[in-house]
Amino acid sequence: THFGFRDVARDEKAGMVASVFHSVAAKYDIMNDVMSMGVHRIWKRFTIDCSGVRPGHKVLDLAGGTGDLTARFSRIVGDKGQVVLADINNSMLNVGRDKLRDLGIVGNVNYVQANAEELPFPDDYFDCITIGFGLRNVTDKDKALRSMYRVLKPGGRLLVLEFSKPVIEPLSKAYDAYSFHILPKMGQLIAGDAESYQYLAESIRMHPDQETLKGMMENAGFEQTKYFNLTGGIVALHRGYKF
Ligand code: SAM
Repeated sequence: THFGFRDVARDEKAGMVASVFHSVAAKYDIMNDVMSMGVHRIWKRFTIDCSGVRPGHKVLDLAGGTGDLTARFSRIVGDKGQVVLADINNSMLNVGRDKLRDLGIVGNVNYVQANAEELPFPDDYFDCITIGFGLRNVTDKDKALRSMYRVLKPGGRLLVLEFSKPVIEPLSKAYDAYSFHILPKMGQLIAGDAESYQYLAESIRMHPDQETLKGMMENAGFEQTKYFNLTGGIVALHRGYKF
């Protein structure tokens, strides 16, 4: 934009996101399991089940971090397929690459350091794009959604797995207490880092709710968009197609 103050806010957010993920990379997987009590595995499995990905497909796991979704897709697409794990943060990419190699997942996976706002891939390239717990961290989400739309093949689908708005009031209260009081304490205890988990709680509260995100996807060009509330809307999976 033309306004200096907005650029400052932009840089601040990007800088904050970078330092959070450099700092949590090594402990990221264990923290995921502890904080979600293992439930993130179920959310990810649901995402794979909604993906329609088949052998031979090309998949982009955007903001893929330590590669949980990539690992599952790699097994599905097989030798003739390709999975690209793209993330802006090289600490997260390194942890992901080491983990997947240890699991013997090699051959059909590529690692690319990239910003979701400016994807370095050709038009109409991927059969499926997933962004799992990543969109929340992106500064210009509309720009990122347009970029995803561009690199998706006609007929391809985008899946956005992200924290969302709990649909039941008591759940919403309990969840707020959990994320603002318990999460940072657990972050301190396990990773020695309360601040990053404070950021996490704040970024979850700021993120657009189910209907808003659906509208943003439609604005970027996606069609037949719908969402599935998971765990009472604590998380939602949004799906949209490019035609
Ligand atoms: N998808 C993985 C998962 O579900 O376990 C990792 C999610 S992690 C919470 C969020 C990831 O988004 C981090 O690895 C971070 O580096 C990445 N990220 C943040 N901003 C990004 C951007 N603008 N472009 C690409 N990746 C970004």
